[in-house]
Amino acid sequence: MSKTLVGILLALWLSAGLAAASGNLQIYWIDAEGGAATLIVSPGGGSMLVDTANRTADDRDAKRIFAATQKAGLQKIDILLTTHFHSDHIGGMAALVKMIPIGMYLDHGESVEIARPQVAAAYKAYVEQSEGKRRIVKAGDRIPLEGVDVQVIMSAGEGITKPLPGAGAPNAACADFQPHGTEPDPDNDQSVGILLQYGRFRFIDMGDLTWNYEQKLVCPNNLIGKVDLFQTTHHGLDRSNSPQFVWAIQPRVAVMNNGPHKGGPPSVFEVLRKSPGLEDIWQGHLALGTPKEVNTDEKMIANLEPTAQCHGNLLMVSVDSSGQYTMTNLRNGYSKTYQSR
Ligand SMILES: [Zn+2]
Repeated sequence: MSKTLVGILLALWLSAGLAAASGNLQIYWIDAEGGAATLIVSPGGGSMLVDTANRTADDRDAKRIFAATQKAGLQKIDILLTTHFHSDHIGGMAALVKMIPIGMYLDHGESVEIARPQVAAAYKAYVEQSEGKRRIVKAGDRIPLEGVDVQVIMSAGEGITKPLPGAGAPNAACADFQPHGTEPDPDNDQSVGILLQYGRFRFIDMGDLTWNYEQKLVCPNNLIGKVDLFQTTHHGLDRSNSPQFVWAIQPRVAVMNNGPHKGGPPSVFEVLRKSPGLEDIWQGHLALGTPKEVNTDEKMIANLEPTAQCHGNLLMVSVDSSGQYTMTNLRNGYSKTYQSR
């Protein structure tokens, strides 16, 4: 091999390695028009994708997820966590795995909607795809993402029963809790919910867990404590995101992975804005059915157009070891830095 070729190969190898191992924790929110796909890259370059969004004829969401992995410098996805088996969370998996290898598959166990033919088909495909690499997680389990602490706090309808360190205070708002009716799509409440900690920084993603189940973790006592960054639950729909939950975890920053016509009703913005200590809301999409002035500031919204014209711009956060974190809107380059508590 010539010296030049060795040099080129070495440079390629270094750039691939450096891109993946930025030294910061990075989280990317892939815009999936109301589906869910959140890519987490740990400071050492380990990776976990939470959900694979929708299936479309043109593999739109799988391609968008793949593009995010390339931006992050990944050669593979170490862990795929599927929060639950709805089509907006598992739909892109079959196409994605043809684009990039996946090392490990985590989920809550069999779908509770297996009687629905569509769910049964998606679940069967998942079981086949994940054979030999699948692990079912329960509340209290740790997810082995190197360099960060990721704990499962909810899975298959069961939450942690003991408070996380520093948490456990009584939640006065529970006295006003109004239960919602029975959830028509019960697999939402099987969602795997995680709390990721990196130094002082805390990030929470509860999948599509709904209103009645959220409160298991925060009533009568807040078992979670406060978080820095909250991915609004269930795409920012009002079937989730109760005041009891949001005001207990008191996020400093909320990221809503809504679609143009899914998530982000005025009532959810109201709950978020009344949450003590909330500084900003960032959105994957302008919620077109909600008045523009109720949506967050346009500079913090990654996508403004209806689906047909949408470019699928990313939101991302980069977190350093001191707990300082910078949110960036990749549509316009706008960014803002926050401090962990
Ligand atoms: Zn969903």
